[in-house]
Amino acid sequence: MKKLLVANWKTNPLTTKEAVKLAKAEDHKGVVIAPPHVFLESASKTLKKAKLASQDAFWGDLGAYTGEISWRQLKEFGVEYVILGHSERRNPPVGGGETDELINKKLLSALEGGLNIILCVGEPKEIREKGIETAKNYVQNQLEKDLKGAENLKLKTENLIIAYEPIWAIGTGTPDTPESAAEMSIFIKSLLTTNYSLQTKVLYGGSVNGRNSSGFLSHPEIDGALVGGASLNPEEFNKLI
Ligand code: PEP
Repeated sequence: MKKLLVANWKTNPLTTKEAVKLAKAEDHKGVVIAPPHVFLESASKTLKKAKLASQDAFWGDLGAYTGEISWRQLKEFGVEYVILGHSERRNPPVGGGETDELINKKLLSALEGGLNIILCVGEPKEIREKGIETAKNYVQNQLEKDLKGAENLKLKTENLIIAYEPIWAIGTGTPDTPESAAEMSIFIKSLLTTNYSLQTKVLYGGSVNGRNSSGFLSHPEIDGALVGGASLNPEEFNKLI
């Protein structure tokens, strides 16, 4: 399986000019770029090799959903992937605290609409402190709720990617170890094979940078990385590529 790098720019950068410059610098095969919605159009005109992702997508397609952007509108910009369930949206204040039920509704709509999903799951610090088995139970519970009903869709491998992102590792400079991330990846893959008959890519996310990336990316059980902070620095991101 080829490795995949997902660049989550979050609410960065400030201007279209900067966004286009960053998109050009990261335009490589095997890369998926998730700019803020306001830069999707300019990024889509810029990218030749990388694929485009949205950082979220609402479940309704058209209608009275003030402030939301629907999966159907995103397709207009050539968006092929949608990140759902990022911990920053699950936990207030960003996204208002998305529940597994809301994430599930968004996931089913976007999948039915023909978009590929990058579903983020991962445990908070207090759960991990109880041990990796407790963390696995936590992640299993998220996956079962977020993917409810997906077993009825005819999914292909590329339609659903799981990003294992322990919350305590995101933006903290303290990544998980490649060994634990790989253990979680094996666990997630076996769950998805058993419950959904799916061979799924599992990415690791959480403080991945140019110095530590090879430990994760060279691991056979880790299919790539979801990168936040380091994706805003083209030099750093190019080390990952
Ligand atoms: C993320 O935003 O999903 C993420 C992993 O961020 P960072 O790489 O900055 O930890």
